[in-house]
Amino acid sequence: MSRGARCRGPCGRSAGGRLVAVSRGDGRLNHELLPDEKGPQDACGVFGVWAPGEEVAKLTYFGLYALQHRGQESAGIAVSNGSQILVYKDMGLVAQVFDESHLSALLGHLAIGHCRYSTTGSSVWENAQPTFRATATGSIALGHNGNLTNTGELAKLVDELVAERGELNLPGTPRLRSTSDTDLLTTLLASHPDVSLEAAALAVLPKLRGAYSLVWMDESTLYAARDPQGIRPLVLGKLERGWVVASETAALDIVGASVVREVEPGELLAIDEHGLRSRRFADPAPKGCLFEFVYLARPDTSISGRSIHAARLEMGRRLALEAPVEADLVIPVPESGTPAAIGYSQASGIPFGQGLVKNSYVGRTFIQPSQTIRQLGIRLKLNPLRQVIQGKRLVVVDDSIVRGNTQRALIRMLREAGAAEVHVRISSPPVKWPCFYGIDFASPAELVANGLTVDQIRASIGADSLAYISLDELVEATTIAAERLCQACFTGEYPVALPDPEFLGKHVLEGMERAITADVDGLAALVGGAGAADALKRP
Ligand code: SF4
Repeated sequence: MSRGARCRGPCGRSAGGRLVAVSRGDGRLNHELLPDEKGPQDACGVFGVWAPGEEVAKLTYFGLYALQHRGQESAGIAVSNGSQILVYKDMGLVAQVFDESHLSALLGHLAIGHCRYSTTGSSVWENAQPTFRATATGSIALGHNGNLTNTGELAKLVDELVAERGELNLPGTPRLRSTSDTDLLTTLLASHPDVSLEAAALAVLPKLRGAYSLVWMDESTLYAARDPQGIRPLVLGKLERGWVVASETAALDIVGASVVREVEPGELLAIDEHGLRSRRFADPAPKGCLFEFVYLARPDTSISGRSIHAARLEMGRRLALEAPVEADLVIPVPESGTPAAIGYSQASGIPFGQGLVKNSYVGRTFIQPSQTIRQLGIRLKLNPLRQVIQGKRLVVVDDSIVRGNTQRALIRMLREAGAAEVHVRISSPPVKWPCFYGIDFASPAELVANGLTVDQIRASIGADSLAYISLDELVEATTIAAERLCQACFTGEYPVALPDPEFLGKHVLEGMERAITADVDGLAALVGGAGAADALKRP
């Protein structure tokens, strides 16, 4: 392919070596299989590697595999051989998008990878990442985890550049009319013809607001950067013959890289034949995402030096001390509730057991479920072990309640399977506020904790008792100082300016009035109503 060329759309390699179109799923059924049961979704996972002599596309593939939980709608890899960047991306899971022939064609010494869940924009091929842009001197490919909150401002900047200089219409670069924050960012980085990409990044990054853990590349250099709050994780690792950056330490483990350190909030890294350079583009003001500790990150990942598994165990222990109950057995809602359930069992002395078996792969299908199959609901995902739970007073430990539909169906299933009592314990406080920094919860109107008391939620889900861990105990369990954590989905106190009003209305507060202000009081007025009032009446 020509310099900077990319494969447009789903491609496969024919016997003659020519790329030909093949049909793919649209990636959406991962969630649409059971739309009412969807949990919080992370925006994305990112991975980058600079390692001459290594199979960088395959390393990236395995890195993305370890980050698949962070984005399951599309996946992509960009590789450079020093003179051209080749991007391959498509809808679907990492293993559905790539096979041996694709990876074998992606040759080079430098690669980035991305797996995406769409928090803004549709789940379509055009929005899959890495994004790609031609520049005056070459090309750029970029992957982004997080959500920018000043997309409107950035769009104006791009328009001004186009009006002033007209130089964004570079060969191979379509005229930009996108509201995708990542596409805008890529365009801004690509629009400085007179300076290096590194210098352009130092000029552009301070203009961004919100959450961004970025990996990007030109033909010769791997770059990584993290927003001044460090909301989403990003770590640096070392290979014997190169460097790796990834959303989580678990992705370093899988490719045999040792953890060097976290990319600092407000830091830009550049890695090339001259080694690793670190530049600071903003003063750090750490506000890491608390929900990464509760649910989002893998248990075998560490954030800020704290093991996620150890933090979740501790959440369970503290929950047991805060909300004890007489019971015969502690069971987790697998798999995310498992460490906290073990902790609850340890602190309470109530035996731990596996009362539910998870069918791990059912949500990973592209097969359209019929209405009959949809009606099976949670049974598609979880199956009770009758002999374990029959006649028992159960403590059921889960990480969070979003809509409450999952817990309601689960409790009904456990009672049908013979449970004598069902006491629900949750290892996070009630989620009441939307996330603007890259996590897709339900809309505020759907959040069951938004407008209901804990006892009303208990009644809604049909539990004998319900208790949440307190925010203070949750924060203690992380061992991170409270002032260094974003807790906004629990408190409504947002550490970074909220998005422009039109983006609140368009992407987050769907179905609500669009004439809103972006201050927290205004938001409170919108989301503080009885948004979940009908939860008491739900079947
Ligand atoms: S609002 Fe919640 S999910 Fe979003 S970054 Fe803050 S703590 Fe994380």
